Amino acid sequence: AGVHDHDVIVIGAGPSGATAAARLAAEGHDVLVIERAHFPRFSIGESLLPQCMQHLEEAGLLETVLAADYQPKNGAAFTRGGVETAIDFREKFTPGWGTTFQVERADFDQRLIDAARQKGAEVMFGAQVTAFHADSQRPAVELRTEDGESHRLGARFVLDASGYGRVLARLEGLERDPRQDSRCALFTHVQTAFSAPDHDREKILIGVHADDPGIWYWLIPFRDGRASVGVVGDAARLDALAADAGPMAGEEDRQGDDDSARLEQRWRALIATEPRFRELLQGADLLRPVAELRGYSADVTRLTGPGYALLGNAGEFLDPVFSSGVTIALRSASLAVPLVERTLDGTEVDWANEFETPLREGIDTFRAFVDAWYDASLQTIIFHEDAPAELKARISAVLAGYAWDRSNPFVKAPRKHLDTLAALCRLRAGATPTIEEAP
Ligand code: FAD
Repeated sequence: AGVHDHDVIVIGAGPSGATAAARLAAEGHDVLVIERAHFPRFSIGESLLPQCMQHLEEAGLLETVLAADYQPKNGAAFTRGGVETAIDFREKFTPGWGTTFQVERADFDQRLIDAARQKGAEVMFGAQVTAFHADSQRPAVELRTEDGESHRLGARFVLDASGYGRVLARLEGLERDPRQDSRCALFTHVQTAFSAPDHDREKILIGVHADDPGIWYWLIPFRDGRASVGVVGDAARLDALAADAGPMAGEEDRQGDDDSARLEQRWRALIATEPRFRELLQGADLLRPVAELRGYSADVTRLTGPGYALLGNAGEFLDPVFSSGVTIALRSASLAVPLVERTLDGTEVDWANEFETPLREGIDTFRAFVDAWYDASLQTIIFHEDAPAELKARISAVLAGYAWDRSNPFVKAPRKHLDTLAALCRLRAGATPTIEEAP
C-alpha cells in the first residue's frame, strides 16, 4: 500500500465505525477497522430513532437492517403515576422516515460490521488500539493483539469510533467535563409474558417517578417478548429509593455476598417503584445479569485534530432519555465520510466548520431537550392533555431524531420554545406560572 498502510483506519466496530467503514469501502477506499472485542458482544443503546434510517440508507445498510426483522418502533409512550400519553413519530414536522426499530445491539452491530466487510472493509477483532500519532498527512496507530503482539499501522486518516473506549479523547488529552449531571443507569434484558394487550410494543415506554421527575425508567420491547428494561437517576436518589422500597414482595431477601444478586435486587426494587412497570414486568425472567453504569455522560474539547476525527460516543455523549446516541453516532459518520474522501483526494478540509459545528448543532438541540426533561418542563408538555397538534408535531420531529432541521423552531431555538410552551401548559392546567415562566 505504498507509504500508507491503509487509506483509513477506523477504531471501533460499533454503529458509527461500521457505517463509516461501509461507505468508505463501498467507494473503493482501503479501510481497516480495529475492534477490541469479539462480536457478537453486548452493548446498551437499543432504541433507534427514525432519523437513523436515512443514515443507514446512505451507507447502503438499509437492506441489511430490514432483513433482520427487528421489532418495529413508531414512537414513544410515557407513563407517570398511572397517566399515560404517547408521541407518534409518524406525526412529525420534518419529512422523512417516521418509523424505525428496537434492536438487540449484539445482533445489530454484528450485521452492520458484516455488511461493511462485504463491501470491502478489513476488520481485525480482538485488537486494541493503545497509542496514536497525530499527523495531518500520515497519522498512525499502535495496537496490541490478544497474543500480546504490538503493531504500528499508518493511514492517511483515522476515525475514532471507540465509543465508551474514548481512545483519542484519552490519548490526545481532549476530555472535558460533560455539561450534564452525573447519573446512574441500571439495566438488563428480560423475557416478558405478552400478558398486557394494552401495551403498545411499537413504542419505547418511558416511565417517570411520580414524586421525582429526575428518576425515569425505560422498557424497550424486542421480538419474541424479550425487552430491555432500565432505570436512570442521580445515584444517591436511586439509593434512597431502593432502600425505601426494600425487597420486592414475593422476592426472597438476597442480602449479602453476591454483587450480581445485589444489583438484581436493587433493579427489581427500583422497577417496582413505577406502577405501570411493576404491572408489565410481573414475573419477567432476567436474560442477563443486571449491569450498572455510573457517570455515563462525556465530552471533549474538540472533535477533530491533525489526521483524525471523533465519531459518535467517542466524542460527546449526553443522556439516554431520548435514545439519541446511535442517531448522533450515525449522523457523525454521515457528515465525516464525504470529508474523509475529500481529504484522501488531497483537498483541504475545514473539519471544525464542516464537521464539528454542524454535528454539535443537533447535539445542542438534544441537550436542550434533555435539560428540559430533567427540569420537568418537557414532562409538563408531554403529559399535558391537549397540546396543539402542530406544536406536538414539532416536538415529535426532534424526538424522532430530526434535531438538525433548522426550519423547526424547536431546533432553531429549543430552550425558548420549550420554556414558552411549558409555561402555557402550566397555565392551562390551572397552575400559576412564575413571572419567569410566563410566555
Ligand atoms: P460503541 O457502540 O460504543 O462502539 C465502540 C466500539 O469500540 C466497541 O465495540 C468497543 O469494543 C470498541 N473499542 C473501544 N475501545 C477500543 C480500543 N482501544 N481499540 C479498539 N476498539 C475499541 N442510544 C440509542 O440510540 N438508543 C438508546 O436507547 C440508548 N440507550 C442508552 C442507555 C444507556 C444507559 C446509555 C449509557 C447509553 C444509551 N445509548 C442509547 C447510547 C448508545 O449506547 C451509544 O450512543 C452508541 O452505542 C454509540 O455508538 P458508537 O458507534 O459511537 O460506539
